[in-house]
Amino acid sequence: MSALTVKSLDLHHGLLHAVREVSFEVASGEVLALVGANGAGKTTLLRAIAGAHRPTAGRIELDGQDITQVPAHRRVAMGIALVPEGRRLFTQMTVEENLLVGRLAGRKGPWTVRKVLETFPNLEARLKARTGTLSGGEQQATAIGRALMSNPSLLLLDEVSLGLSPIAIERLYDSLKGLMQSGTTVLLVEQDLSRALGVAQRVVCMLEGRVVLEGPTASLPREAVTEAYFGVGRERAMA
Ligand code: ATP
Repeated sequence: MSALTVKSLDLHHGLLHAVREVSFEVASGEVLALVGANGAGKTTLLRAIAGAHRPTAGRIELDGQDITQVPAHRRVAMGIALVPEGRRLFTQMTVEENLLVGRLAGRKGPWTVRKVLETFPNLEARLKARTGTLSGGEQQATAIGRALMSNPSLLLLDEVSLGLSPIAIERLYDSLKGLMQSGTTVLLVEQDLSRALGVAQRVVCMLEGRVVLEGPTASLPREAVTEAYFGVGRERAMA
């Protein structure tokens, strides 16, 4: 059974139709990359899956159960954890306190502070530091760790590499690879195509609110994804 099913989802910001009839599935244990240029609708879609944005039409299912009307806090308890763009940490609290907050609304499961530190060893020495004093990479690791502490069955990652140095991105993705290979179901929004294609088993490409390409990363030619990403084929057709 699919961990997540999105069916004909429409999302608006006021009059703006940001996501149009989007459908896709994420299989249990799969890493799916959601890619697309700025404004394609990726963040809006992720927020809707987490329950932070109400759909105008369509349906969202978690493990086959319709959750379209379920409020965000209950979705956390059901197994959905969102690492939002910009991290949204409690900057006056320590790394450890932020991690423990993650456990409050969550589910029972294997994640502990110790296990987060094993996944992100760079946090070990920073455990008692306020997150406002951390580097961008450490903050991002804390934000992901906080999400993991809720023991999610589905982890939503929004632009985790945004604003980080190349070295910090490398380190973060090294840690994420272990996590992804361990069978965690991940829906990853990433603007860096190489990164996305490097870790995901499947990719969904959005352009101006619609899905324009979907398939396994192993068999999709890189050029096809790039063209879909920038809407090159469509421009050619319109010329
Ligand atoms: P980015 O990579 O820039 O975050 P994205 O693919 O995540 O892009 P969204 O942030 O979901 O795209 O935005 C989709 C559309 O909705 C864009 O046209 C954007 O300007 C618009 N939008 C996003 N948030 C809001 C908001 N709070 N109010 C009004 N319009 C919004």
